[in-house]
Amino acid sequence: MKPDVIVVGAGFSGAVVAERCANVANQRVLVLEQREHMGGNCYDYHNEDGILVHHYGPHLFHTNKKKVWDYLSQFTQWHPYEHKVLSRVDEQLVPLPFNLNTLDKLYPKDQAEAIASLLISKYGEGAKVPILELKQSNEEALQGLGQLVYNKFFVNYTVKQWGCKPEDIAPEVTARVPVVISRDDRYFHDTYQAIPINGYTAVFKRMLSHPNITLTLNCDATQSIALDKASGQIYFDGEVFEGKLVFTGMLDALFDYVHGELPYRSLQFVYERHEQGFFQPATTVNYPNEERFTRITEFKHIVPVETDNTVIVKEYPQDFDRHDPEKNVPYYPVFNQSNRQAHATYQALTQQFSNLVVLGRLADYKYYNMDDAVNNALSCFERVFGE
Ligand SMILES: Cc1cc2nc3c(=O)[nH]c(=O)nc-3n(C[C@H](O)[C@H](O)[C@H](O)COP(=O)(O)OP(=O)(O)OC[C@H]3O[C@@H](n4cnc5c(N)ncnc54)[C@H](O)[C@@H]3O)c2cc1C
Repeated sequence: MKPDVIVVGAGFSGAVVAERCANVANQRVLVLEQREHMGGNCYDYHNEDGILVHHYGPHLFHTNKKKVWDYLSQFTQWHPYEHKVLSRVDEQLVPLPFNLNTLDKLYPKDQAEAIASLLISKYGEGAKVPILELKQSNEEALQGLGQLVYNKFFVNYTVKQWGCKPEDIAPEVTARVPVVISRDDRYFHDTYQAIPINGYTAVFKRMLSHPNITLTLNCDATQSIALDKASGQIYFDGEVFEGKLVFTGMLDALFDYVHGELPYRSLQFVYERHEQGFFQPATTVNYPNEERFTRITEFKHIVPVETDNTVIVKEYPQDFDRHDPEKNVPYYPVFNQSNRQAHATYQALTQQFSNLVVLGRLADYKYYNMDDAVNNALSCFERVFGE
């Protein structure tokens, strides 16, 4: 049976479009996924101890978008969860984002109190002050605070994460790192914060289990799809395909790297199972300075489970290399002017194909949280398939 729509990628972007096309527009949808599982980077599973492990690093759902929350709530109940992060600095664990509690941990009591009242009188309680602004303050104490946050929390972490030199870190990036004038240690402040009660993979299973949807795993779509620039036609398995092709993979791969490769950062995830109740006091502990990894996440903190064992993951950032099986997962686009330009060149090529729709964090070459990915996919469905 020929599909009406082909969706490449079974992450949130692809799964939402497939689900809407099948359920709302009554289209026959073929989903092609190169991995051996659905769910994209949100894929999770229960290990032998019953712990829900996120296979591609911790995925914490948070959103202010009621539309996204309501949409996903059709496929899952939720386990309420508010994320907390600690950072290992000067051999102690302190709250992140940097806030008044962090100040107390790093400064002698009198000094911490003095800086806190200065911050409150100058910016007001609840304000988020970029460290660049603090570094440029007339007040010596605030300048010192900005410099401390930059040196101890930001600069080495950023160098590890992006593989750059400190001097290559643009001031606009520093400008966004805030000191939060509050004692609220939560990492996110969105209205909705929760984890699907049976995990993300269960959500994807429900979304994609529709008689109109066929899911083919272990299938690199670039092997079966060909784009003919001259005619503007899309070929699937050697035949002209006139339905919509929704592509959520990398544009450089789709166009066979004619304009070169788009740079990405990749990650190596190292999982460890420990025979102990808990490994660390919070879900995520950042290691900005001494270690080669950037953070350790312990999954048992997210969805509690009765077991004497625990699982952690350490994240080692590295450059992406599509030819190296240890480095061939593209996690983060590397933003700079020339990379954006290179991506725009690929985007321009997509315009030649009237039935090609590109969507998602890879094809858009942008960092999206899960709620952005779902929201964009819902809008895409309404725009492309709506009556
Ligand atoms: C380490 C990490 C942590 C994150 N943590 C959070 C978090 O805490 N909260 C949050 O909201 N967001 C988080 N995110 C972001 C989240 O992962 C993304 O928002 C979401 O995965 C985007 O969905 P997507 O479908 O666009 O992309 P993906 O999930 O990457 O899905 C794309 C799919 O397309 C497939 N594909 C690509 N090319 C082809 C091809 N040629 N043929 C067939 N299949 C193909 C891929 O295999 C993949 O399965 C995190 C991301 C990373 C990397």
